Amino acid sequence: MIIYQRLLNLLETCPRKFQHIYLEQLDSPLTPAQQERPWGSRFHLLMQQRELGLPIDLLVRENSQMKNCFTAFLKAAPEIFAPNRDSETFRQAEYSRTMDFKGYVLTVVYDLLIADAKKAQILDWKTYPHPQEQQKLAQNWQTRLYLYVLAETSEYLPEQISMTYWFVRTNKGERPQRLNFDYNKEQHKKTEKYLTMWLERLKDWLDKYMEKGEQFPQVDPNSRKCIDCKFAIRCERSRIQKEEAIALTAYSNLANIEEICL
Ligand code: SF4
Repeated sequence: MIIYQRLLNLLETCPRKFQHIYLEQLDSPLTPAQQERPWGSRFHLLMQQRELGLPIDLLVRENSQMKNCFTAFLKAAPEIFAPNRDSETFRQAEYSRTMDFKGYVLTVVYDLLIADAKKAQILDWKTYPHPQEQQKLAQNWQTRLYLYVLAETSEYLPEQISMTYWFVRTNKGERPQRLNFDYNKEQHKKTEKYLTMWLERLKDWLDKYMEKGEQFPQVDPNSRKCIDCKFAIRCERSRIQKEEAIALTAYSNLANIEEICL
């Protein structure tokens, strides 16, 4: 089974929700953040094309906000746009790495990875408008898994690896913000411990679901997570009015899930 950050975030948020979405292939209609997909996808494509040395004029020109955001980003982070050919040993956009972990395949895709002899830097473009709190983002599985996989699959020590999120979707005149996360051995061990714990739990729940039809655990009934969950009626956790419930639709394409702020 392939494990990626979105899946781990969902599992940690609520195992039953994981069951509804990944095993029963149900999902709710797109949230406003998910509806932003076209802009986010175009920005990622723009950055990838630029790295590959392909023309980007059309992508920049077709949308004035794209142009403003790209210009502001260029100004705020010139070091990203001007590769240091003397020191950089590796540089690739949309770079994927995988590794085996206790019978699972951990998978990450870095928006941009830049490395030299002493350090490796993971860069990620966030295209939702509001930066998350640093602490919340540190706990997000994207941060934890991306750093973990690079440390495990490269020669770099955890202390030589970092991850930076750039919040590139700004209003005209605003400067893009960034959040940087350094890494160390203690964090690496901690991530390994939590990964092991969640993947052992997942195996146990999956076995019981497949063999006996046992449902994945729900979150605590007092958890506020159920209040605005689209599966509240299905889970008999409905504190929302029935008419407010949105019909669940067949969930057919995992790739269409937008980058969301968890
Ligand atoms: S209603 Fe509550 S228990 Fe059910 S999937 Fe949503 S968060 Fe989980």
